[in-house]
Formats: sequence, structure tokens, C-alpha cells
Amino acid sequence: MNLENGKKPRLVVFSGAGMSAESGVATFRDHGGLWEQHRIEDVATPEAFQRDPKLVLDFYNQRRQKIGDVQPNAAHKAFTELEEHYDLTVVTQNIDNLHERAGSKKVIHLHGEITKARSNGNPNLIYDIGYDDIKLGDLCEQGFQLRPHIVWFGEMVPMLDTAAREMEQADILIVIGTSLNVYPAAGLVNYVPPRCTSYLVDPNLSQEEFGNRFSVRTGTAVDIVPGLVKELLTQKNNW
Ligand code: NAD
Repeated sequence: MNLENGKKPRLVVFSGAGMSAESGVATFRDHGGLWEQHRIEDVATPEAFQRDPKLVLDFYNQRRQKIGDVQPNAAHKAFTELEEHYDLTVVTQNIDNLHERAGSKKVIHLHGEITKARSNGNPNLIYDIGYDDIKLGDLCEQGFQLRPHIVWFGEMVPMLDTAAREMEQADILIVIGTSLNVYPAAGLVNYVPPRCTSYLVDPNLSQEEFGNRFSVRTGTAVDIVPGLVKELLTQKNNW
């Protein structure tokens, strides 16, 4: 591949829950994952919030506190080393802020951000709340109850088009820590152009399952990413 002089190759990291597993944040579908303790319908749908807002707020208050207690892992940090030589965008399904805390500059959150609240009556009113709880009776400036700034199952994914535009321009794609089960997010990998070189990092997925679509690196984020980053840094002039 030959890029115009002076242009950095465009690299998209597409991350899911497995990216943060080694920071101590539970994934959804693995053994011991969150959904073994909570049914999706009880905590992660608009209907659940209407039915029992306190239960839903408590569930996310616990998640938020947990995120405040954990740290970015070596894989989150290693990705930031690429920014000098690659035009790097992180597209994440994660609601945590570990990519940002590791130092990634451009992060697109497909499923929302746990450290933000938004108005239940006006989706444009979004507030940074850090690691504070949202309580019943906490209202936006227009008097509506606050809810977590999370995309729940059955809701639109407002950042989907922005993420698809990034995929369409990718020279390199690294898919990491996602079972590619949650749509429409999982469909984003189909937007990359044929020239794009695609990697997939996951301890439970193997090359046989993906043929020549991805170069599969079977292993955990922390085991694989620092080496993959080194590889990409030595190849920085080859794209
Ligand atoms: P998923 O739970 O469906 O899949 C996780 C994937 O990560 C699996 O394929 C698993 O094999 C892999 N994995 C497990 N440990 C890993 C490790 N150490 N390194 C690399 N990979 C590892 O997660 P998903 O595909 O992201 O979809 C679930 C939904 O849950 C997403 O929408 C996401 O927003 C949400 N979620 C977010 C967080 C978070 O913000 N940290 C945590 C749990 C779930």
C-alpha cells in the first residue's frame, strides 16, 4: 500500500468488553460475566428503566464505582504508542473510560459513557458526573429525571455513522475483545475497504474461524497488544 507523502496510515482499534477484562472489569458473555447475574431485560432496556428506575440506576451506579477503582491495562497503554506514527481512532463498545485514561486522544463510544448522565426527557442534555451516583430525583435543568448516558438494548446507536466513516477509511483495523455478537456495532467491521489489513485479538477465537478475513492473534489483550504494537511500529513506513 502507498500512502500520499506525509500522511499517516489510518488505524482503527475496535474494542469490546475483553479489552478491559484484565483491568478487572467483567465482560458480558464470558463465564462469570455480568449477564450471569443480571438479565438484560431487567437492567439494560428503556422498558426496565420505566418499570424500575431505582434498580437500573443502582446497577449502573455500581458499574460506575467499579470503573473508578480500576486502571487502564498494558494493552490500553500500548495502543497510545502508535499515535506518533499512525492516525489512530479507537471505536469502542465499552462504556468505561480506560482508553482515555491511558492517553488515547480520539475515542468514539458506540454504547455511551458511564461517567456521563443525560436527561430522560431531552437527549441533548448530557452532563459529566465522574464517578458520582445518579439518584432518583436527580433532575436535568429542564426538570426531567437523569439517566445513565448509555445506549440500551433496543435504542438507536447515535455514533454508528461516525464510526462507519472511520472504518471506511481504515488502512489497518484491530478488532479486540469483542464476541462480535451485539448488532449493529458488530456489523461495522464490514465497512473496511478491501485494501485494509485486519487483525483480531481474542483468547477464545482462532484463525480457522476467520479464514483470511483477519490475521487472528489468539491470546489476551495484555499478552498480545504490546507485541503487535511493536510489529506495527517497525512496519510504519510500509503502508
Ligand atoms: P462480549 O462479552 O460479548 O465479548 C467479550 C469478548 O472478549 C469475547 O470474545 C472474549 O473471548 C474476549 N475476551 C475475554 N477476555 C479477554 C482478554 N483478556 N483480552 C481480549 N479479549 C478477551 O463483549 P462485547 O462484544 O464487547 O459486547 C458486549 C456489550 O457489553 C458491549 O456492548 C459493551 O458495551 C458492553 N460491555 C462493556 C464493558 C465495559 O465498558 N468495560 C464491560 C462489559 C460489557
